[in-house]
Amino acid sequence: MALEEYRRKRDFTKSPEPPPKVRKTGRRQARFFCVHKHLASRLHYDLRLEHDGVLLSWAVPKGPSLDPTVKRLAMRVEDHPLDYGEFEGVIPEGYGAGIVMLWDKGTWTPEVDDVDQALEKGDLKFTLDGSKLKGSWVLVRTGGRGAGARGGGDRSWLLIKHRDEWAGDLDITEFAPRSVKSGGDFEDILAEDSPEVWRSNRPARSGEAGAMLAAIIDRAATLKAARAAAKKVATRDAAAGAARPVGAPKARKRAPRR
Ligand code: MN
Repeated sequence: MALEEYRRKRDFTKSPEPPPKVRKTGRRQARFFCVHKHLASRLHYDLRLEHDGVLLSWAVPKGPSLDPTVKRLAMRVEDHPLDYGEFEGVIPEGYGAGIVMLWDKGTWTPEVDDVDQALEKGDLKFTLDGSKLKGSWVLVRTGGRGAGARGGGDRSWLLIKHRDEWAGDLDITEFAPRSVKSGGDFEDILAEDSPEVWRSNRPARSGEAGAMLAAIIDRAATLKAARAAAKKVATRDAAAGAARPVGAPKARKRAPRR
């Protein structure tokens, strides 16, 4: 039972600490959600909804669409820890190797009383209040090709925007491509942390993602070089004792006597 140890260690008739109340699933209460934009072997968007202390996760290859007539495939993937919700960075190698951007975050509110039941049924209606995604949405399980087949037939869902004031034909992934956390794009995230291992073994070498990653690696290298050069100038200026902003005219070698 959840919070059993917490309960066992305390006497709540004597302790002022909060009782071990498990937030009942299905309460129509706002909780954390985020969307990670993840350039791995393929570009996709990971929708994550907090539920029962974890982040329920769906990988959406084409990303969310604000157009209610567009149904986006969403593959249910493994739950992630809550702490993952703020993650942004580079996964150098192994599973999911690539660049992870925090593309949107905010709160979500179930439009149903029992989230577990809705998941079981394969029909979860909810409201998003993020920076980019808002309003009413639904995740519907399709059963997939060969429903009931082992290996993920029932992992296929569709992410669909409901018709409301937040629906429209704006391509939100094109319109707002950058990080909600850092404001940067993939190359900015990569420039912060370029894994050495990618020189020899990039996570995506072929296809669209491979070409995209190659271009991003180039842009990140340019950014890095520019930053290194700026840092060098700043260091040299500091060493010269010149308390002047970068770009300001240099002090004369011999200051005129006063
Ligand atoms: Mn992913």
